[in-house]
Amino acid sequence: MHQNPEPGSDSIAYRAIPSVHKLLESPVLVEWSSRLPHEWVANAARKVLDGHRLRLADDPKVAAQTTMDELSRDVAKTLQIQTARKLRAVINATGIILHTGLGRAPLAKSATEALVEAAGNYASVEIDLKTGQRGQRVEVVEDLVCQLTGAEAAAVVNNNAAAMLIVFAVVVGHHRPRKVVVSRGELIEIGGSYRLPQVMESSSAVLDEVGTTNRTHLLDYEQAITYDTAALLSVHTSNYRVQGFCKSVSIQELVELGKRHAVPVIHDIGSGLISSELCSVLAEEPSAQESIQAGADLVLFSGDKLLGGPQSGIIVGRRHWINQIRHHPLMRAVRVDKLTLAALEATLRLHHDPVRASNELPVLTMVQMSVERLQERARCIVDRLGSIDGLADVAIRSSMAYLGGGSLPAEAIESVSVCLRSREISEAELARRLRVGSAENDSMRQFPIICHVQNGAVWLDLRTVFPDQDEMLVATVVAVV
Ligand SMILES: *Cc1c(COP(=O)(O)O)cnc(C)c1O
Repeated sequence: MHQNPEPGSDSIAYRAIPSVHKLLESPVLVEWSSRLPHEWVANAARKVLDGHRLRLADDPKVAAQTTMDELSRDVAKTLQIQTARKLRAVINATGIILHTGLGRAPLAKSATEALVEAAGNYASVEIDLKTGQRGQRVEVVEDLVCQLTGAEAAAVVNNNAAAMLIVFAVVVGHHRPRKVVVSRGELIEIGGSYRLPQVMESSSAVLDEVGTTNRTHLLDYEQAITYDTAALLSVHTSNYRVQGFCKSVSIQELVELGKRHAVPVIHDIGSGLISSELCSVLAEEPSAQESIQAGADLVLFSGDKLLGGPQSGIIVGRRHWINQIRHHPLMRAVRVDKLTLAALEATLRLHHDPVRASNELPVLTMVQMSVERLQERARCIVDRLGSIDGLADVAIRSSMAYLGGGSLPAEAIESVSVCLRSREISEAELARRLRVGSAENDSMRQFPIICHVQNGAVWLDLRTVFPDQDEMLVATVVAVV
């Protein structure tokens, strides 16, 4: 039970609690004070002393034995946690390739280099190097996108959600017509904060739902079209599948309908596949090329999904609409910075050579790595871990990897995992140590490992681990068990 000592209690322990001032005089905290603002260190000291006071009330005997040294070490530890870098590179052993929680697509080497160069230098963001005149910051990137997709024009914004917002703002505007027709089967949520109906609500568009959850026919769209219809919208149901008795309308049919009624068609393909020829595993994903070819007026996708680039939203389509998007006041709020431009340009250049793209874009190399190669890597890892005392069991198992990030939700990709069981600690504790083990001592040479726990074991799926991280993975496991 929690017993508050009487006010004015004369206990020795109470009188022995040092003042903040006194605590800060300990050598280790003098050291910290030389590196951090005084108030920061003092706040940490106050926090530790408050905690000590509470413990003292709970159990005077134990707490009273706490030494000044221990208190100052607690303060130092608090400061260490507070000042440790929070955004760290991690090893993704989850088997989910486009893991939104882990920052989606890792960039290709050439994109990383371009980004770093732009970051530490001035860059030709708004200057045309040939003429020395003012140029548009995104023109180069937009040209590359047009060449790749066959579109008339392109615009680049912060992410696909921003692309959706500005497209609605331009196509719907503030006047009539305001209705955007969309199938009830396509009212998607992509993770908690992106829900299509709410995104539409925050623009001046009015959602006009047609059809049912499982079946929507061309006639449903056609009957909904009135003088107040601003656009027809098709959304790729990227992170789920409706299976069984279902029907949806193809983009070709929708475009044909739109043409007949002079209503523009917007296609949110989400995943950002440029061409379905890029990789056979991805053939079922909608591609920007196909959608443009089918005649969609505006096609939207993310830059950090299958494109394998930095977070961005790419809009391609009719010049007439893209020009309005470029000049819309919202553009300033959703435009990309030089780092994104540099990384995106390098990524798009890779896509111009499909062989290079499939060899150099991590997303594609991961998707395409053979099961045999994964098994070979697993055997090497198991050889190294097999003799470790703390591990009760080290095994190679087949597992299921997923594209993630809202692509091919139903299609598992055959994969290989190394499964670990510890002698002493639970699988959840082992997973926790793999995450924080190296983070706590903040050594930048070892990345935290993110993995799944299943059937009493920790599963390290190798499909999402870069081959050159296998060494580090072994070292981290050895260090924490
Ligand atoms: C991922 C996705 C979005 C959201 O894209 P962000 O780039 O995360 O803003 C929107 N629509 C679809 C269909 C998606 O797959």
